[in-house]
Amino acid sequence: MSAPQRFGRVLIANRGEIALRIQRACRQLGLETVAVYSEADAQSRHVLEADIALCIGPASAARSYLDAASIILAAKVTGATAIHPGYGFLSENADFAEAVEKAGITFIGPTPDSIRLMGDKITAKQTMQASGVPCVPGSDGPLPEDENAILDLANSVGFPVIVKASGGGGGRGMRVVWSADELIKAVALTRKEAQQAFGNPTLYLERFMQKPRHIEIQVLCDTHGTALWLGARDCSLQRRHQKVLEEAPPPGIPSELIAEIGARCAQACRNIEYRGAGTFEFLYEDGIFAFIEMNTRLQVEHPITEETTGIDIVCAQIEIAQGKPLMIAQNAVQTSGHAIECRINAEDPFTFAPSPGQISQWNLPGGAGIRIDTHIVAGSVVQPYYDSLIAKVIARGATREEAIQRLKVALSEMQVETIATNIPLHQALLCDRDFLKGGVDIHHLEHWLEKRE
Ligand code: ADP
Repeated sequence: MSAPQRFGRVLIANRGEIALRIQRACRQLGLETVAVYSEADAQSRHVLEADIALCIGPASAARSYLDAASIILAAKVTGATAIHPGYGFLSENADFAEAVEKAGITFIGPTPDSIRLMGDKITAKQTMQASGVPCVPGSDGPLPEDENAILDLANSVGFPVIVKASGGGGGRGMRVVWSADELIKAVALTRKEAQQAFGNPTLYLERFMQKPRHIEIQVLCDTHGTALWLGARDCSLQRRHQKVLEEAPPPGIPSELIAEIGARCAQACRNIEYRGAGTFEFLYEDGIFAFIEMNTRLQVEHPITEETTGIDIVCAQIEIAQGKPLMIAQNAVQTSGHAIECRINAEDPFTFAPSPGQISQWNLPGGAGIRIDTHIVAGSVVQPYYDSLIAKVIARGATREEAIQRLKVALSEMQVETIATNIPLHQALLCDRDFLKGGVDIHHLEHWLEKRE
């Protein structure tokens, strides 16, 4: 185990709101920040507010924020001794984490081995199963080549099944199969797609759950054997596997059940000597949790966990990377109140067409229980090259009702001109009867959108 080591300077290998979020945590801890940026982001807040900023390439992400060699070189040139990858881009790239460490720089995140283990969905599931984390029933390993063997497997799991690429991600590389006569064709198609998209044709199969909720557990682990779980989030409101609105805690799920799953996640982390922040994703149906995958990075929706636990997850990530022990015990982690996050995107609220361009007017809400994480100011240009997230509006309340009410007021105060945003979608969702009841499944938003047409 390495001795505690204080960094002087942290390079943040990201852009947008998360780059600012990480800068704040660094400042909080008295650390200097290095921003890297593409030519398109030269006027961005994460560049203007950093202690040092270095342009690493043109607008294309492949030639800037995904260019591992340039980022490592930027750290060397600026004397940064640690790199925080944020989310997206290189955050779950084991080869990048390894290259960073080989260059003598601390990677603020899990070990390359943990990233690799969880990046392959088959080994991730097998590891979790061995640790006592309940998983979606399925093939327990790669699908064989033999057609009869595949059929036997699917029959024993029971239709409908979902065929998934072991190396898949971002909601791609999977196919639902409703009956045995479609299976072999579906496997062949998915295998071809997996090979093309991820360079890995390995597939597995699991039972397709028809009305699950997406519930996830946040974990935080130090390098001294402490692994904590920080409550659960409900991220069921999704469109095309993209989360739209998240809340903590998940409405209507008994806290004892969440505690039992949380404890299993923490134990699994101890078993694999996991380090840093991570998220266990589950499908939840009929009172049963079933693990689907683990994200080995900070999540977009981390603020709702921060708001309900009072724990600064990004500061904790940095301190863990410095070798410090977590100063809080599991029984001192208390969740209180309710928090909801709306992802504000630069897109048409109902057609979802992207709406890049210059923002002429930008008035943010405030008041009790409101937190806004954003990189936008009046005059900012929303670039077409990157994701469309322009702000996260987070409301906390003593109860779910209070959080919802605060969110409604906050969204009504928010003024954005002259690009389209999805604020009207959030406003409509916050009045939806099923959402207000709590506990909608992962298909709810898409069904709701279809009904509106
Ligand atoms: P990715 O890494 O591409 O996000 P996941 O394994 O997390 O892939 O699955 C993405 C989404 O696909 C889930 O949030 C869920 O909506 C759906 N899904 C995945 N597995 C199942 C399953 N066994 N049953 C039903 N839906 C599933």
